[in-house]
Amino acid sequence: MYSVIIAGGGPVGLFLAGELALQKISVLVLERDPPAVKGGQKTSMKDGPLGRRGLFKPAIEAFYRRGILSEILFPTSSSGKERANYIEKGAGFTFGGHFAGFPVNANQVDFSVFPHHRAGPSFMPGVTTLGRMEAVLAARAEALGVTILRGKTVCEVSCEEDRVRVYTHDQDKGKEAYTASYLVGCDGGRSTVRKACGFDFQGTPGEITGYAGICEVNDPTGAMKEGFMRTEKGMYIFNKGQGMLHLVDFEPFNRTANTVITLAHFESVLHRVVGTKTLTLKSLHQATSFTDRAMQATQYRRGNVFLAGDSAHIHSPLGAQGLTLGIADAINLGWKLARAVTSPSTTDSLLDTYHAERAPEAAAVLEWTRAQVVTLRSDPYSRAVGRLIQDLISTDQGATYFLSRMWGINQRYDLGHGNADSLVGQSAPDVILKSGGRLGDVLCTGESVVVADTAVEIPGIKCYQADIHGMMLVRPDGIVAYAGGDLDTLRSLLIL
Ligand SMILES: Cc1cc2nc3c(=O)[nH]c(=O)nc-3n(C[C@H](O)[C@H](O)[C@H](O)COP(=O)(O)OP(=O)(O)OC[C@H]3O[C@@H](n4cnc5c(N)ncnc54)[C@H](O)[C@@H]3O)c2cc1C
Repeated sequence: MYSVIIAGGGPVGLFLAGELALQKISVLVLERDPPAVKGGQKTSMKDGPLGRRGLFKPAIEAFYRRGILSEILFPTSSSGKERANYIEKGAGFTFGGHFAGFPVNANQVDFSVFPHHRAGPSFMPGVTTLGRMEAVLAARAEALGVTILRGKTVCEVSCEEDRVRVYTHDQDKGKEAYTASYLVGCDGGRSTVRKACGFDFQGTPGEITGYAGICEVNDPTGAMKEGFMRTEKGMYIFNKGQGMLHLVDFEPFNRTANTVITLAHFESVLHRVVGTKTLTLKSLHQATSFTDRAMQATQYRRGNVFLAGDSAHIHSPLGAQGLTLGIADAINLGWKLARAVTSPSTTDSLLDTYHAERAPEAAAVLEWTRAQVVTLRSDPYSRAVGRLIQDLISTDQGATYFLSRMWGINQRYDLGHGNADSLVGQSAPDVILKSGGRLGDVLCTGESVVVADTAVEIPGIKCYQADIHGMMLVRPDGIVAYAGGDLDTLRSLLIL
């Protein structure tokens, strides 16, 4: 019997497993995919360009605060540029992200509007691949004592009052059962846990079909340009050097799990999206498709069962935010669930804060992706909205607004206390400590800490001094639970 079973060993499940194990909780991860064959060829899409993923502040900070950021991120971008610790407002162009194909210039952003977002290792977004991230997270989880069983497809769940029984199907061993006090479904967008446990999943149907492919395009008339291009019929993103092509098409593609995307199909979509038949595809090495279905579980918790990552929310990759959302779910849930295991009588309401804090973040991302689809439609009304947005993005204030939402700088939880001006509910600024190092370094143990402008001593909690105003109580996930000068109030919140 384990304390927690996690269904799904993708990035979110593996990171959550490590978070729980950091708090000395026994964890079993059940992953559907079989283990990689030793010495076998690396053919997984997760390791190539199709597995590339951009990460933003909430995920970057989560990995940084656990000391694994440098292992996860590529040190340079695909153009060979080193990841910076800061970006100055000024002349020039630095790609900060895009909204429906309109690029945002990070050099226009006024970062002084977010004084808590400080220069340092966690300031800028970064890039990795799913393969690299999963390898680092699996190694971390196993080093902390997590059991990961691969080739185990979760197929049924039965919930009893104080335990959850999880049934798996294994190709060789058939049906098996595992028991734990808690179950977390991290089994992706088609989550079996979500369906088996009766979670309500609501949202909007898909309107676009997106494609990502590794291909060689023959373009005799020079019809295509590199980078982000909005067209009459959708959008494409072309990186000729990597042979990477993304297409956004408004025609439906009825695909099942076994449907192969053929070269002929990809080429016909290319013709439609770019608007010319002069293009031909010389080859198509790998391809995948996605839709913009935007759905979210109406509750992330049902009794002793939780959802995190894509099992709790799905949306199109426009804006590249799904993984960041999932990693932020995991760091939020990990320490709360660990408290529930170690001190069950006090923590039921704490567990409910997981949904209360995380669901609004996902809802905002779902809206963000829907808004992009509207401006990509080809009708004159939508195009007019698109032009308006382009005008706004090109202003300094507009760039600041768009980028703060994309990078997750504006994330703030309503903790039910703390005034609007304070840091409460926000990610703690990565301050430099008087004892040396930064706040991010000392959060790697997964404990709450106090940072104060003068020396303070509070039994059972590590206190650090830094050049700040008053005191900050920082939760294990790096969120500020208290900011101010009243030690009694701070002490009263220590249960957090
Ligand atoms: C083309 C594309 C580009 C993207 N780009 C970005 C980006 O740049 N940035 C970003 O933040 N996000 C991006 N995303 C989204 C991101 O990839 C997902 O949000 C993220 O992978 C979700 O992680 P997860 O662990 O929740 O789910 P998954 O990655 O889907 O992992 C789920 C795991 O559960 C396993 N599983 C499934 N069913 C079962 C079962 N019944 N039993 C046991 N195991 C099971 C699966 O094998 C898998 O290992 C992109 C998505 C797409 C499609």
